[in-house]
Amino acid sequence: MDTLYADFHIHTVYSSDSLIQPKTLIDMLLEHNYVKVAAITDHDSTRACKATITLAAAYPDILIIPGVEITTTAGDMLILGTEELPPKPWTPQNVADYAKTIGAVSIIAHPYRLYGMGDTAKTLKIDAIEILNGNSSTTANQQAKQLAQELKLPGTAGSDAHQTSELFTVYNKIQADLNIDSILHAIKKGQITPTTQNNLFPYNKI
Ligand SMILES: [Zn+2]
Repeated sequence: MDTLYADFHIHTVYSSDSLIQPKTLIDMLLEHNYVKVAAITDHDSTRACKATITLAAAYPDILIIPGVEITTTAGDMLILGTEELPPKPWTPQNVADYAKTIGAVSIIAHPYRLYGMGDTAKTLKIDAIEILNGNSSTTANQQAKQLAQELKLPGTAGSDAHQTSELFTVYNKIQADLNIDSILHAIKKGQITPTTQNNLFPYNKI
């Protein structure tokens, strides 16, 4: 087991609202001192995943996790560990069930922000709650953390970056091997600590 640092919510140019090129994401991972794992979670698209994974394959110390941010009928949900889209209709439970079927991880994205699903999350069988989103207010993140505690689910962090300067503003410290299965397993087990950029004040201790 290693201690890894991973950003689990990133948009590339395959999201219409993002400016981040796959190649730039790879360069940023190579340059960063310790964040070496990134999940690609474009809006309703997995088109960036294969090409970015291929680019990353040349560098053994970085890892791209394929994923997607699905616009469900109730709000946004992340799936980590898929290169395919779930079958429609995209109800929250259908999307969560798809993730479970293929061994991926379902995460409620920013539940108390715009496009979040709020308390609907309480009715679902999901794997984790995003409790630290780089584009959410402190209050919205704290509400999300309370939700994760109430549901006894692991909490994750993701920058929700749409431009390069937003990459890795928050990330996860995670005990896992540098491969997708090990990381997804660690998320489900809660072997993960959402952390802010300066790394001095783990979010869990605020
Ligand atoms: Zn997003």
